[in-house]
Amino acid sequence: MTGRPGRTGKGGGQASSGELLELVRSGRAVTRGALQQATGLSRATVGLRLDRLFRAGWLREGAGGPVDSPLGGRPSITLEFDDSHAVVLAADLETRHARAAVLTLTGEILAEHAGTLVVQDGPDAVLTGLGRWFADLLEKAGHSPAEVCGIGLAVPGPVDTETGRVVQPPMMPGWDGYDIRGRMARAFTEHTGAPPGVPVLVDNDANLMAYGEQRTGHPDCSAFVLVKVSTGIGAGVVVDGSIYRGIDGGAGDIGHIRVGAEAQCRCGSYGCLAAVASGGAVARRLAEAGVPAASGSDVRDLLASGHPEAAALAREAGRRVGDVLATVVTLLNPGVLMIAGDLAGTSFLTGVRELLYQRALPRSTAHLDVVTSRLGDRAGVIGAGALVVEHLYAPDRVEERLLALGM
Ligand SMILES: [Zn+2]
Repeated sequence: MTGRPGRTGKGGGQASSGELLELVRSGRAVTRGALQQATGLSRATVGLRLDRLFRAGWLREGAGGPVDSPLGGRPSITLEFDDSHAVVLAADLETRHARAAVLTLTGEILAEHAGTLVVQDGPDAVLTGLGRWFADLLEKAGHSPAEVCGIGLAVPGPVDTETGRVVQPPMMPGWDGYDIRGRMARAFTEHTGAPPGVPVLVDNDANLMAYGEQRTGHPDCSAFVLVKVSTGIGAGVVVDGSIYRGIDGGAGDIGHIRVGAEAQCRCGSYGCLAAVASGGAVARRLAEAGVPAASGSDVRDLLASGHPEAAALAREAGRRVGDVLATVVTLLNPGVLMIAGDLAGTSFLTGVRELLYQRALPRSTAHLDVVTSRLGDRAGVIGAGALVVEHLYAPDRVEERLLALGM
């Protein structure tokens, strides 16, 4: 926020084309009259600024027909974001598999693919593989590489979003400090022949799942927490519609909170929550008991088939996580706490609820909904796509991009 007059729509007369587009996209003002009222601009100035957006192909007149104008007089034509002028690519990397998708600017999935892509093979191999997937997906969706306005990536580690690099990621050996954005953009160009320099945004997987779930399922929830329990454990926090990342992108990294157990964690420390309550930890306990399981997704399959030992261990893991979440909800007082990932079934949720309601202050949980995912395995790609769109169509970026288009 720059605090410029017009940003708040209070008669400063300075609202830019980008700010008008934001008012339309958010639904706060969808007619010329409503835009005049919200910004204090004259009818002629609103017309000039909208004209740039029409010429760029970013705005269109709505199909719904005229509505009553807030300024009286003739009914006005509604305006809407034209989401047909570009598409977004998104991918969600897990430790051993990934999902990639082509999405519209309003978050609809046009084509998707899920398959094996091993993070431990290193960034060069994985991002090259994604470049190939994206090329195939665009063909499947019937869109050209030139239509892609940006790429969003969800990764299983802490991300410095200023640089798009991961910082000391326990589950991503070989990725520390690597130029993910640059390599992804090059891989995309190599496999599609698209012009170089496509914008790439990278964020943590739990952050982007939280973002995707909050926007699509809980848009009115101003404090939303998602906990992902798969091979590792992480949390994403969305406050007032924005991802809360903290100073270094480390917010929500609850998997490495010490819970005082003996087990060694992948991060090198002992006693982390992830070392005793993640899908990886449950898989290890099952393997010790003679049940073949090596990863969070193996545990998920066992839980789905009703395996009693897997269910008992998932419930115990849920209690461990619920104990930590009692502190999380006391600190953040969220309206929705969503449990997602491989372990997010009935047994795990029962365990979470047992400890959470026992340990947290009643005031922190009085209006708390503990829920499971609505988007399931697609939450990460939907969140990554939304992140790209919100970045590229933020008012200041809209101005820059219109100027670059010569408008
Ligand atoms: Zn750890």
